[in-house]
Amino acid sequence: MSQTITGVQASAGIAIGKPFLLANPQLRITTVSIDDTAAEMTRFQQALDRAKDDLRAISQQVEKDMGADKAEIFNAHLLVLEDPELVGAVQSTIEQKRVNAESALDEVAQGFISLFEQMDNDYMRERAADIRDVTRRVLSYLLGVNAMSVSQMAEEVILIAEDLTPSDTAQLDRRLVKGFVTDIGGRTSHSAIMARSLEIPAVVGTREITTAARTAQMLILDGHEGIVIIDPSDEEIAAYQRKKAEFETQKAELAKLVHSKTMTRDGVHVELAANIGSPQDLAGVLANGAEGIGLFRTEFLYMGRNDFPSEEEQFAAYREVLEKMAGKPVVIRTLDIGGDKQLSYLDLPEELNPFLGFRAIRLCLDHEELFRTQLRALLRASVYGNLKIMFPMIATLDEFLQAKAVLESVKAELTAQGVGVSDAVEVGIMIEIPAAAMMADQLAEEVDFFSIGTNDLIQYTMAADRMNERVSYLYQPYHPAVLRLIDRVIKAAHDNGKWVGMCGEMAGDLTAIPILLGMGLDEFSMSAVSILPARKRINQLGKAEAAAQTKAILSQRSSEQVERYVKEAFATSES
Ligand code: PEP
Ligand code: MG
Repeated sequence: MSQTITGVQASAGIAIGKPFLLANPQLRITTVSIDDTAAEMTRFQQALDRAKDDLRAISQQVEKDMGADKAEIFNAHLLVLEDPELVGAVQSTIEQKRVNAESALDEVAQGFISLFEQMDNDYMRERAADIRDVTRRVLSYLLGVNAMSVSQMAEEVILIAEDLTPSDTAQLDRRLVKGFVTDIGGRTSHSAIMARSLEIPAVVGTREITTAARTAQMLILDGHEGIVIIDPSDEEIAAYQRKKAEFETQKAELAKLVHSKTMTRDGVHVELAANIGSPQDLAGVLANGAEGIGLFRTEFLYMGRNDFPSEEEQFAAYREVLEKMAGKPVVIRTLDIGGDKQLSYLDLPEELNPFLGFRAIRLCLDHEELFRTQLRALLRASVYGNLKIMFPMIATLDEFLQAKAVLESVKAELTAQGVGVSDAVEVGIMIEIPAAAMMADQLAEEVDFFSIGTNDLIQYTMAADRMNERVSYLYQPYHPAVLRLIDRVIKAAHDNGKWVGMCGEMAGDLTAIPILLGMGLDEFSMSAVSILPARKRINQLGKAEAAAQTKAILSQRSSEQVERYVKEAFATSES
């Protein structure tokens, strides 16, 4: 009998395949006395060699897919396994204490880990994490426990995991991982956002996939419906193969819209832009016909590594994006770290409410050097395209003015050094905090543009953590409270002659699109895969007709009422 599990639709598409559990299994180490120490040495050496082969394969794969900088961490892990001090100490422990290899390795590694952990230098403390990681890899070979590794995945799989960090997601081998399912996470968790940009079907927040599918042989993942079928019947497999084929046909239909402009039925042009996390995402963006980049989340340049990216590295990434977009608008957001996006090398105290904590612009204004490096890189890159700089998580006018002052000071410094900087760089802010939405009329006097970040705006308006499935019923994009704020922001921008975009996930939502179009949103920025369906939707809508519905929509009493109203009002153009 098959079993169906429901989760959150994170990324569209259907995958059918074997599950692969990405687990951090319990490694139980017992100490056993050994007579044949030579045989034990060989076991240790073999496990070591297999772990090293893994790391080489991963490093090559990551370098090919994501660039040399991302591969560095695996090269560092390889160095740990080649360190004669560590390997020698394990060997002499086996010989002298006549104990099994796993016990010897564990003892030696723990010694190194506590040594490094006590050092008051961040870099050295990071080494403890590296040793812990690679030791696990060798131990799992010694114990015969399946630890996750890209190279162990020799066939196409559907990955199942409790959770995926953004860097886990970045390392997925797109040729082998046909989809993923997690226990936790919501539609706007960063692994979900990355799944959409990688075009990997995904269902998140199932709460139970890692237990329910532990012994499963086959899975069907339906990213449209947000369901997973464990050990499906032949009939179910056949039905989903048909559904998958239909999806492919629809995709081919949409592909015909790649080169057309986004025009409403009554001849108004709106801009459809894409959200990216790194220059690697550009191929998908261009293939889907984006008219610009509405959000470059630069924090991904800072993640999955051991140290801050240098000014040169950042400059190269920004320049690449600007050049490849060939004069189309590119909105680059300054570092938005904090919340669910942490940097292992930035040693910050744990917070009880990280989403309300020391993050994004708050952190950048406090760590001015970090901020200045990024701004230097951005301004230097500005001469290679149509750059717009955006500050995240602005709560007050004062924060914007402070950030702008730092930007001006960096610009003056560059100019004094004779470095060319474009004069046409617009400077805007994300509107994702209700306070900023309420004060949008005053903020609009100072900025060049707004981009509404609904992922956060909804969670702060409804006081519902975007990562917590238990309160996900409150995470309501169509709630009139959220819609009224959005309407207010758009009006405030237009009253001041400024343009306004949206880069939260709501911008690509087919039900939200007519509402936003009616309110006058100028730019919609979304995951690359959402662009063509959104273009089709907008082509079918009339802007004036949509605008005529705004008042009625805003006077609904609940999210459900709004949804029902919109579905009826725009029924003929429903795609
Ligand atoms: C948002 O909050 O809507 C947004 C686009 O930013 P992020 O998802 O990166 O927090
Ligand atoms: Mg945000």
